[in-house]
Amino acid sequence: MLAQKTLKLSLKSLKEFAKKRLPDETLIELDEKDECPIDIVRDMCDPDKLGIQLLFIPEEYGGMGGGTFDVYCICEEMARIDLGIATSVLATFLGSDPITVGATPEQKKVWLGRIAEEGLLFAYGATEPEAGSDLGALRTTADRVLQDGRVVGYKINGAKQWISNGGVAGAYTVLANTPSGPSWFVVESGAKGFTHDRPEDKHGIRLSNTAALAFSDVYVDADRLIGGVEGQGLNQAQAVFGYTRLMVAAFGLGAGWAALDRAIPYSTKRIQAGSPLSEKQGYTHKLIVPHVARLEAARSYVEETAERIDAGEGSLNTEGAIAKYMATEAGNQAADASIQALGGYGYTHEYMVEKISRDVRITTIYEGTSEIMEMTISRDRWQFHLKTRGQHYHEKARELEALHARHPNVGADIAALAHHALAELLEKARVARLTRHQHILFRIGEWIAYAESAGSLARRAARTAEGKVHEKSNRRFDAPALAALSRIFAREAALKVAEEGLRWVCGAGGVSATDMPAFETSLQMSAIHRAQAGLLSDMDTVADVLYARVAKPALAA
Ligand SMILES: Cc1cc2nc3c(=O)[nH]c(=O)nc-3n(C[C@H](O)[C@H](O)[C@H](O)COP(=O)(O)OP(=O)(O)OC[C@H]3O[C@@H](n4cnc5c(N)ncnc54)[C@H](O)[C@@H]3O)c2cc1C
Repeated sequence: MLAQKTLKLSLKSLKEFAKKRLPDETLIELDEKDECPIDIVRDMCDPDKLGIQLLFIPEEYGGMGGGTFDVYCICEEMARIDLGIATSVLATFLGSDPITVGATPEQKKVWLGRIAEEGLLFAYGATEPEAGSDLGALRTTADRVLQDGRVVGYKINGAKQWISNGGVAGAYTVLANTPSGPSWFVVESGAKGFTHDRPEDKHGIRLSNTAALAFSDVYVDADRLIGGVEGQGLNQAQAVFGYTRLMVAAFGLGAGWAALDRAIPYSTKRIQAGSPLSEKQGYTHKLIVPHVARLEAARSYVEETAERIDAGEGSLNTEGAIAKYMATEAGNQAADASIQALGGYGYTHEYMVEKISRDVRITTIYEGTSEIMEMTISRDRWQFHLKTRGQHYHEKARELEALHARHPNVGADIAALAHHALAELLEKARVARLTRHQHILFRIGEWIAYAESAGSLARRAARTAEGKVHEKSNRRFDAPALAALSRIFAREAALKVAEEGLRWVCGAGGVSATDMPAFETSLQMSAIHRAQAGLLSDMDTVADVLYARVAKPALAA
């Protein structure tokens, strides 16, 4: 893990690099030309220049050995600059992942060493034309090449689709089926029989090179099989999902905030009906404040998960999925609202928010779509519900009630209501066997993500009040502001869980008319409705903080 000072210095260098090399005019021009600025990407990865990739290479292989929290902070900052460039750097990280997780010490020395020393760009080749969310449908093959009965190499045949850095990388980690199952191989650019297509013409992240790859009898030596044992590929990919999804979650945070940080100052200068937009509740409370609350709820979950991974709690794949789901959905909503916040100007290239909105759109698609996240979350937590005989979320609710006793203003009581309602919904779904409906299974994933994020933001607000927040934690908001944000988000989460839960459980035929009153009572609907009291004044408070004003806004026209 990096020392706090080192992380701060790295973030500062990154900002300075971007200011010099990637001002808005350059970004707009490259976006219009649909061009990956490969020299800039190479300079970012060049150890003698910015050397950003050194952060995620372990120290023993020449890197700086950044931890999960460090990587989250760097990823957020990169996304604030440009999500296409951030994706190029991410691709090297993803490409080196199977090596970090599963390679032999010799392989690590070669490949991680080359990334550290030469700034070698990697690409991560998993997706195929017929195998996207379902990687099990993989068709690329790696056939053994034998000499005197010994495996000396492999011949790779097949195709990969949508590969970031596909046309510019120096090396590729490629998932292919061996006789013993999916396995990762390193293929260098220029290998005979290996070609890439022209860059895709994309909706967003146009500064990132994305290309299809084709393999026709591409020979690699046996030492290019990562880990030296066939059939480990899917395990090696799974082992880092928590971590890599946090990186994309950080992209959602960075891009969402980059958009809001353009909308907020804009609204202080734009005068309509005699006063700045920033003074109009109908503007701030729709287009700004709710998005800040959602992004900060997601950030809490990202930070909590990063801290736990760094503390050695394992790969935390489900937590990574919740973080990615919440942060990328919030990032998309924030960017879309920022276009609206700038009105007609927001719809033009010059003001950047439309570019950010196009760019951030990818984050709910790559590294697992939002729907696949919903499924992952739901399936995993469903097991917790079954194993605890329905008590899992009631227990989490009781922990939040205990937190509320110590910190009555951080919204933990409302987050607890969301958890209790969730437990009741899951139980009703179990009894009525509702998860046989895929839509119910996926919706459960969404409710879980909201409830758990509400709990996480309440904990962050409490820790901040106690002065015990992680030393690298984002400090944009002080304890009272975080408490107000937490109450706002907890109200949204509780209402979402209870009302949408009721809707879909009834919609799937899970409750009879006779049972309905008792079911509504079990969800504590009326307590959740009562908890909405104070919402508007909390939003006023957050708007005051965002616009650095003390007094409450006057009622605007
Ligand atoms: C710009 C870009 C860069 C990328 N970079 C890389 C990269 O570097 N390396 C790499 O390997 N891949 C990369 N990808 C691929 C990306 O990870 C996949 O696009 C993604 O996993 C989704 O796969 P798919 O596109 O085949 O969509 P599909 O899996 O066909 O999904 C289409 C839709 O169906 C939904 N869906 C899928 N399965 C189910 C199901 N079982 N039940 C219900 N709904 C379902 C999805 O949520 C989605 O909404 C990139 C993609 C893009 C667009």
